[in-house]
Amino acid sequence: MTIGVLALQGDVREHVAALADLGEVARPVRVPADLDGIDGIVLPGGESTTLSMLLASSGVGDALGDALAAGLPAFGTCAGLILLATDVRDGRPDQRSFGAIELTVRRNGYGRQAESFECTLSVPAVGDDPVPAVFIRAPVIEAVGPDVDVLAELPAAPGSTGGARPVVCRQGPVLVAAHHPELTGDRRLHRLFVELVKEHRETRR
Ligand code: GLN
Repeated sequence: MTIGVLALQGDVREHVAALADLGEVARPVRVPADLDGIDGIVLPGGESTTLSMLLASSGVGDALGDALAAGLPAFGTCAGLILLATDVRDGRPDQRSFGAIELTVRRNGYGRQAESFECTLSVPAVGDDPVPAVFIRAPVIEAVGPDVDVLAELPAAPGSTGGARPVVCRQGPVLVAAHHPELTGDRRLHRLFVELVKEHRETRR
């Protein structure tokens, strides 16, 4: 199995290392040909507007868009989540949206005071122990489509009027996290993605 890691900008090395810890070969994706034969792809965190420009200039954007539309499994973290979502608020009007998971997201939606924070999340899909989570200028998931499974939420902040916010979601073979699982030593979300990729391969045989 070969899992691509979009390697145009952002925390590429950390995702490659996380996959290597699980015994998976990760292939950096910089040009369209790097997509050939991959079984899944990770879209790392970074800056979604910059990533969008690099997707266009490298030619990877259109090829990746086709692959995602054909059902390529994908794992997007933070900026990667933004790229995979259907609707992006507070983005650049020309930024790329692959529309691979039905989410409305607001860039930098956790606001200035809380641009970065750490906490733990309950993610029953990967086990009972809490999952450590690092949020860095993270997007807020404001709405999820009917076919999206919410795997983890942040509880509402004390005193806030809003409710709990989804932070880890899945729709079919597409998994997203608003935080950065690659920055902690906890590999359970990467393992979940590897399992999704394996399942997807089995069903296509
Ligand atoms: N705020 C960034 C964006 O809009 C995402 C931040 C991140 O990936 N850590 O792309």
